Amino acid sequence: MYRSNTCGELRLSDLNKEVTLSGWVSRIRKMGGMTFIDLRDRYGITQLSFNQEVNHDLWEQANSLSREWVVQVTGTVQERSSKNPRIPTGEIEIIVNKLTVLNASKTPPFTIETDSDGGDELRMKYRYLDLRRDVVRQNLELRHKMALETRRYLDERKFLEVETPVLIGSTPEGARDFIVPSRMNPGQFYALPQSPQLFKQLLMVAGFDRYFQIVKCFRDEDLRADRQPEFTQIDCEMSFVEQDDVLNTFEGLTKHLFKTIKGVDLPPFPRMSYADAMRLYGSDKPDTRFGMTFVELKELTMGRDFKVFDSAEYVGAIRVPGCASYTRRQLDELTDFVKRPQIGALGLIYLRYNDDGTLKSSVDKFYSEEDLRKWAERCEAVPGDLILVLAGETEKTRKQLSELRLEMGARLGLRDKHRFECLWVVDFPLLEKDEELNRFFAKHHPFTSPKAEDVPLLDTNPGAVRANAYDLVINGVEIGGGSIRIHDSQLQAKMFSVLGFTEEKAREQFGFLMSAFQYGAPPHGGIAFGLDRFVSIFAGLDSIRDTIAFPKNTAGRDVMIDAPSSVEKEQLDELGIQLKPRSGAH
Ligand code: ASP
Repeated sequence: MYRSNTCGELRLSDLNKEVTLSGWVSRIRKMGGMTFIDLRDRYGITQLSFNQEVNHDLWEQANSLSREWVVQVTGTVQERSSKNPRIPTGEIEIIVNKLTVLNASKTPPFTIETDSDGGDELRMKYRYLDLRRDVVRQNLELRHKMALETRRYLDERKFLEVETPVLIGSTPEGARDFIVPSRMNPGQFYALPQSPQLFKQLLMVAGFDRYFQIVKCFRDEDLRADRQPEFTQIDCEMSFVEQDDVLNTFEGLTKHLFKTIKGVDLPPFPRMSYADAMRLYGSDKPDTRFGMTFVELKELTMGRDFKVFDSAEYVGAIRVPGCASYTRRQLDELTDFVKRPQIGALGLIYLRYNDDGTLKSSVDKFYSEEDLRKWAERCEAVPGDLILVLAGETEKTRKQLSELRLEMGARLGLRDKHRFECLWVVDFPLLEKDEELNRFFAKHHPFTSPKAEDVPLLDTNPGAVRANAYDLVINGVEIGGGSIRIHDSQLQAKMFSVLGFTEEKAREQFGFLMSAFQYGAPPHGGIAFGLDRFVSIFAGLDSIRDTIAFPKNTAGRDVMIDAPSSVEKEQLDELGIQLKPRSGAH
C-alpha cells in the first residue's frame, strides 16, 4: 500500500492516527535539530517532521533528500506548534517513523510553486513540471468540472453525445484546414475538422433530435495572441427549434455553470442586435461591464470649417466620467494610443467639461463654447467629464473608438474580472462582402438561414440580409455562436449561388449534405461554445493557454515534444509526397 491518505486531507480530527503518505518533496527546511519537509501531491501539502534527537538516522535521511524526489512516509498525525492557516492541513504534521525513497529527481529547472521563477518557454518545455504547480493544475480541475457539468446539464435535457470523425474532407470556406495525406489513396488528403458542423446537421436529418459533443477542432490560422491551432468546442445541435429555443437552452447551460461552479446567480441575459452593438460599442462582442457607449456628433460638428469633421463620414464620441482633469501628457498618451498602427486613427480630439462648468477642447479654434455645450449635452456629460472624439470612415472609426473605449474602461478599473456580464448578440448580417474580390462570403457559415422576412433581399441587396445567427458574449469575449440552419434544399442552393458557387462546385463540396436534405431534413439549429475561452473567463485568465494541459506556442509549436517535425524520406515516399528543396538548402 503506497498510501493511506493523500497529502490534502489530514486534519486535527485525525490526531494520533498512524498514516502512510506518498508524494513529492516540495520544500525542505532545516532548523537546528529539526527538519521539516512539505510533501506534495495533487490534493495538497502536508508537513513532515523529523527530530534529530528522537531518530538520528531518519533525520539524516530526510536531510539527504532534494526537491521533487518521490518519497513514501509512515508516521503519526500530531498537532503543529506553529500552525499555517493558509493551507487546510496547516494545523497538523506527521511525525515520521519510516521514510522510503520511491524515486530520485534531477533539480527542476524552475521552482514548482504558486509563483514560479520559470519563464514561459521553460515552463512549456517542461510542462509536466509546470502542471505540478497548484495554480496551473487548478485550471485543469476547473475545466474538468465545467465539462462534467455541461454533460450533466445536456444529458438531463436529452442531448446525446455523439462522436464525429476527425479525418474528413477539406472545404474551402472558413479558415485554412490542416490536411492529412492518405497513404491508401495517393495524392488525396483528409482534412481535420474546423468544427463538426456538417455532421451535426446530418445527425438532425438522422432524427437524433438533440446532439452535443465536447470536441477538438482544428484551424490552421496565423496564431494571433490568444489562439491555439487545436481547441475544444462544446458543440450542439437541436431539431424543431427556433432561435429562442436555442438561446434559452444555452443561456440555461451558462447559468448552470456559473451557479454550480462559481456560485453566481446571473440575471436574464440581455439581447442586442448586431446593428446596435456596432452603433453603440463599435464591436460585435461588446464588453458590457461598463457604459461609455458611443454618441454620434456628426451633424453638430458641421459647417465650422473644421475639415477633419466636415469630410468625415462619421464623428463619434465617448464620455469618460471624471477625467476632465486629465493632463496634457495623459491626453498625448491617449492620442499615441489611437495612432498606433494596430488602431490606426489619425488623431484624437478631446473636450474637457471642467468642474467649474467651462468647456475646453482641442478644437476651440473652430467651435464656440456654445457649439461645444451642444456636444456635451448630446453626450449627457456633467462637469468633470472628458469627451473623446474620433472621426473618419464609419466602420473603421467605430472600431478605433471601440479600442479607445476598452482602454478607458481598463484605465478606470471598470473591467473587473470577478464581475460577469453576459449578452446575446443577435441578427448578424448573413453575408460579408470582400470588396477586393468583389464577392460575398458567409459571415457565419453557408448553412445559416436568413431571416424569413429578409429572403427577398437575397436578390436585390444581399448585404442587407440578416441571419438567424447569434453569439454569446461574456465580458467582451465571444464565448460561442450559432445559428438556425437552412433546411430547405432550394434555399440552400440559392445561398450557394449568392456565395458564388457554381452548381457543380456546390455539389462537389457539399453534395452529401444537399442530397441528405432531400430526405426530410427537420428544421434545426445549434451553437458551439469555445470551452478553452469559457474556462479562461471562469479562471480569470487573460489567455486560454493555461486552460490547456499541453498547449502550443504562438508559432504553433509544441516545444515539449518538439512538434511539428520532419519525417523520414521513406514515410514521404509512401505518401507520394515530394518536398521542394527549400531555397538555400543543399
Ligand atoms: N460550427 C459553428 C462554429 O464553429 C457553430 C455553430 O454554428 O453551431 O462556429
